[in-house]
Amino acid sequence: MIGADLVLNNCSQVLTMVGGGLGIVEHGTVRIRGGRVDEVAGHPLTPADGETEIDCHGKVVMPGFVDPHTHLVFGGWRQNEFEMRLAGRTYREIAEAGGGILSTVIHTRLATEDELYNRALERLHEMLLWGTTTVEVKSGYGLDTETELRMLRVARRLGELGFCRVVPTFLGAHSVPKRTPKADYVECLETEMIPAVAAAGLARFCDVFCEDFVFTAAESTRILEVGKRHGLVPTIHADEIESSGGAEVAASVGAASASHLLRPSDSGLQAMAQAGVAAVLLPGTCFFLREPHKSPVARMRELGIVMALASDFNPGSCPMLAQPLTAQFGCIHYGMTIEEALRGITVNAAKALQLDSEVGTLEPGKAADVVVTDVPDYRHIVYRLGHNPVWTTIYGGRVVHRQF
Ligand SMILES: [Zn+2]
Repeated sequence: MIGADLVLNNCSQVLTMVGGGLGIVEHGTVRIRGGRVDEVAGHPLTPADGETEIDCHGKVVMPGFVDPHTHLVFGGWRQNEFEMRLAGRTYREIAEAGGGILSTVIHTRLATEDELYNRALERLHEMLLWGTTTVEVKSGYGLDTETELRMLRVARRLGELGFCRVVPTFLGAHSVPKRTPKADYVECLETEMIPAVAAAGLARFCDVFCEDFVFTAAESTRILEVGKRHGLVPTIHADEIESSGGAEVAASVGAASASHLLRPSDSGLQAMAQAGVAAVLLPGTCFFLREPHKSPVARMRELGIVMALASDFNPGSCPMLAQPLTAQFGCIHYGMTIEEALRGITVNAAKALQLDSEVGTLEPGKAADVVVTDVPDYRHIVYRLGHNPVWTTIYGGRVVHRQF
């Protein structure tokens, strides 16, 4: 691994993401010292003693990608459901046939912590090859205290490896376990699971799958408020399958972000804008599920809602973990601009995780999480559909993946 002090010279473009746009510095240079961005210059810099120079001729350099919504830790894949869906079965029909989240719950409960860790590690490594340096990881395939804690311990171990920032989220309210009355499970979440997760310091966020047929707006509000009392920042799966008042809940509890938002009400979006809730859009999921509805990006743009983009990587509705591809789906499928999409996987994703003082832009003092892409113009990152543009990934000033 190449260590902390680097000079990325002769970049074709540096995208700093500073100032509300892409912050393009043509023929720029990035100097990294002590794991932090030290300087972004519009001309080459001479490396000092002990600094390593990387020639970035013909390359675009930008902040490491932030993926603010993933279900990285799980047991078992669900390729059979993919086939069922292609044959025309709906989400509900698949769930009633024993598929869906609850099938992953069975495989996750059966897996040991090391098994979950080893599988998640392979996926995390793949993310690194695609430039992700910060990833949010949810629990939610245990639906019992023991397995939820096991998933969150796996997330913590992945973060401790030191090649990617891992932000853990407790999503015990992902579904209701089989043969458990919902009221009993909500009570268990509130009196047992949330306190246990918070006491162990294993999560930063508390999340809920808010849908009328999963957790209603009222139940979601209750759960998120209990999470807040235990120091967990609220976030929510909102208005994906039905319009269920999820955007309104996000605003009323002061959530950091609301995800999915395929069918939010307009008043819900207005409330989100007013409360400063970031929208985490998941166009890869929408595309993979062949959903006719798309998130109302134009309205969000008009309301000035921060739009972040996440992979939603999970074994059911989106087995895709590459943030450059998410950006491509954001543009092609959701109608975002290239600038919105690239901000969506960097600075706006950092905002959704409340980490924007640390990551998401390239400016002095920020963590030196940097991606060097092998394309000469930033538009290629979105335009070259399916291409992995990542040439080098730098995390905290250390080269953690390179092709040179
Ligand atoms: Zn999700």
